[in-house]
Amino acid sequence: MARETVEILEVGLRDGLQMLDYVVPTESKRAWLEAERLSGVKRFEVASFVPAKILPQMADAAELVQTAKASDVYACALVPNLRGAEGAFAAGVDAVLVPASASAAHSVANVRRTREQMIEAVAEIRTLRDSLGISAHVEVGISTAFGCTLQGDVPEADVVWLAAAAVEAGADGVALADTVGYADPALVRSRILAVRAAIGDRLTGAHFHDTRGLGLANVLAALDVGIRSFDASLGGLGGCPFAPGASGNIATEDLVFMLESMGLDTGIDIDRLIEAQQCLASLLPEETLHGKISGAGLPRNFARRAAA
Ligand code: ZN
Repeated sequence: MARETVEILEVGLRDGLQMLDYVVPTESKRAWLEAERLSGVKRFEVASFVPAKILPQMADAAELVQTAKASDVYACALVPNLRGAEGAFAAGVDAVLVPASASAAHSVANVRRTREQMIEAVAEIRTLRDSLGISAHVEVGISTAFGCTLQGDVPEADVVWLAAAAVEAGADGVALADTVGYADPALVRSRILAVRAAIGDRLTGAHFHDTRGLGLANVLAALDVGIRSFDASLGGLGGCPFAPGASGNIATEDLVFMLESMGLDTGIDIDRLIEAQQCLASLLPEETLHGKISGAGLPRNFARRAAA
């Protein structure tokens, strides 16, 4: 019987590198993508389309989209506004990810625009996409969907309202992100169920951080209520530069290890993924990588199954 599949989106090239205070050469980014592609990872968030003077790390965004497309993998890029979307669509992305904060305070601090203005941006980007006649998806990532370092609690009603507004503005999909590592498994379940009640299967994925050690527990809770697409970063690189104290995307290799151990099919070869993590460690020798499985090694009884 075919195993149930779970999709992984590798976000390290954007979310992981964004906060570094030095620019990683394009060739190193390409080597990272290629090492991970060889393990079977097929979906990458490759960059952010923002002005190079604001984020020099992302100056090679279009080149990385082209690298991904030449390697026949799915390329998604973060775009904070219409101008970013123009660049991303021109580069040939498969999807743009528009960040929208459920926390009013974080929205202004992170992208210097209100939540309502971000929804307007989603509508503009959707209109642009349609006018270009291209098939790229418009995805909305709801950041601080489980809490916020600036405002503390983020009410469920705010998250549901924002998700519904995003869909009404033309989003093809909406994902919930625990930008600052405030989520717990009970909150994950209740919030996902509430958002799904409002937008149905437009709720497509989840992005968890391991800031306080609950990253994989939150994935498990989301799996229990039907989420089948997760973001993660190789070596647990990265977090959110605008949320004080935030760090720690969940490590792709730990996520894949958990899912494959549970009998779910990620299409990823864990041995080669661990090799990719070692490649990343050599490409970024100054960075502390997180995650457990690369250091501990696979258990002797780990069942390697043929990738789908
Ligand atoms: Zn993240």
